[in-house]
Amino acid sequence: MATLFTKIINREIPAKIIYEDDDVIAFHDIAPQAPVHFLVVPKKEIATLADVTEADKPLLGHIVFMAQKLAKEQGCEEGFRVVMNTNEQGGQTVYHIHLHVLGQRNMHWPPG
Ligand code: AMP
Repeated sequence: MATLFTKIINREIPAKIIYEDDDVIAFHDIAPQAPVHFLVVPKKEIATLADVTEADKPLLGHIVFMAQKLAKEQGCEEGFRVVMNTNEQGGQTVYHIHLHVLGQRNMHWPPG
């Protein structure tokens, strides 16, 4: 069954898409935790970061590259945070890997 994010990729569920290419899509998070909060998602369905293989290394580089490029385009020149929640204890709720990019407010450490 298609993941929630594959349904966004296939335009079955609406989203505010900010970038798309053959391998990656990025869209605003529906429940933003910062003034800027978007997700960078590979089109390939990989459930968690713990499931990636050697063959996924270029794709992982691609999503990290796009995270910083889009962060700057979205007005986060002062800084931003990139997060990939992984599995239940890591706070993951959608099992299709995605980078959260958050910005335009001061971030705190340690995170919750
Ligand atoms: P995670 O909990 O790390 O797996 O992140 C999943 C994220 O997806 C959460 O921040 C949700 O707010 C976000 N989300 C869930 N449904 C949608 C949707 N339809 N459009 C955009 N973002 C969504």
